[in-house]
Amino acid sequence: MAEVLVYVDHVDGAVRKPTLELLTLARRVGEPVAVALGPGAEATAATLAEHGATRVLTADAAEFADYLVVPKVDALQAAYEAVSPAAVLVPSSAEGKEVAARLAVRIGSGIITDAIDLEAGDEGPVATQSVFAAAFTTKSRVSKGTPVITVKPNSAPVEAAPAAGAVEALAVSFSEKATGTKVVSRTPRESTGRPELTEAAIVVSGGRGVNGAENFALIEGLADSLGAAVGASRAAVDAGWYPHTSQVGQTGKSVSPQLYVATGISGAIQHRAGMQTSKTIVAINKDPEAPIFDLVDYGVVGDLFEVVPQLTEEIKSRKG
Ligand SMILES: Cc1cc2nc3c(=O)[nH]c(=O)nc-3n(C[C@H](O)[C@H](O)[C@H](O)COP(=O)(O)OP(=O)(O)OC[C@H]3O[C@@H](n4cnc5c(N)ncnc54)[C@H](O)[C@@H]3O)c2cc1C
Repeated sequence: MAEVLVYVDHVDGAVRKPTLELLTLARRVGEPVAVALGPGAEATAATLAEHGATRVLTADAAEFADYLVVPKVDALQAAYEAVSPAAVLVPSSAEGKEVAARLAVRIGSGIITDAIDLEAGDEGPVATQSVFAAAFTTKSRVSKGTPVITVKPNSAPVEAAPAAGAVEALAVSFSEKATGTKVVSRTPRESTGRPELTEAAIVVSGGRGVNGAENFALIEGLADSLGAAVGASRAAVDAGWYPHTSQVGQTGKSVSPQLYVATGISGAIQHRAGMQTSKTIVAINKDPEAPIFDLVDYGVVGDLFEVVPQLTEEIKSRKG
């Protein structure tokens, strides 16, 4: 069976969920060979093996931390040349997409970004994308070179599928371009203790209807009862009620959780563009004519200041 390269997103050896989802998809297309780079690369092996990686190619060097993406592209290209895979899968983060695009240019291959599903096809993997603000679903296949495909978080389940996960050192020689852009400082983001917005299985978002920064505590309370991330519409973010990094939509982040709860959000096309592929959508809005209700699986017509506290209490009580 052909091998499929899976680019691993990890923090000091802790593998992030979207990579485990990629392994599920990779197994549909071939035998997953993981590529883990940077500090803690070898520590990823046990988790990757548990989820189907037959081999784990690892490399660590100061260049990965000291410079922006090019050293990683050099390493992924080295893995590509060593393995001659049937496809290369990369998580659809901002960095992942840059790494994937640069690799595709270097190896003369077609690329598909932001896939939401992947299946085997007679002429290579077929990727599903949700396009034009999720108004259309397309299926595409790379017709030139080795398919390079980035996949959005939450596009596949995480499945246990134990495999050998043999660790092998990957030999990488860095190109001249590798040291072109140096990282000059790093400031860790303050942790909220909530899941990362783009990876969360549940997202609770607040919009203009929340009516003030202080009221976002309500949204956070509901999110915490569900173990969810907090998102916001642009109206809420532009008003300064919540950080820009939490904006969901065309000019914000794209999320695709199992459950998306929109509170006090009208459902403008630009907001929908960032959340329409969510599996189950719930809206709480006092206007029964709000466009968000065209989209929802469950809609609550009501004042969020009454509905959200009741919902939060009910969820807490059921959790016991
Ligand atoms: C180029 C461009 C890019 C954009 N990118 C984005 C983007 O990335 N993300 C984004 O979100 N927007 C984006 N926008 C803005 C978008 O067009 C909308 O203006 C925005 O999404 C509206 O946010 P909202 O739904 O919170 O506010 P509104 O449209 O004002 O809706 C507020 C809703 O809250 C409801 N409400 C009010 N009070 C209550 C209450 N007490 N209880 C329950 N419901 C209540 C109202 O009925 C209403 O439906 C973009 C716009 C442009 C032009």
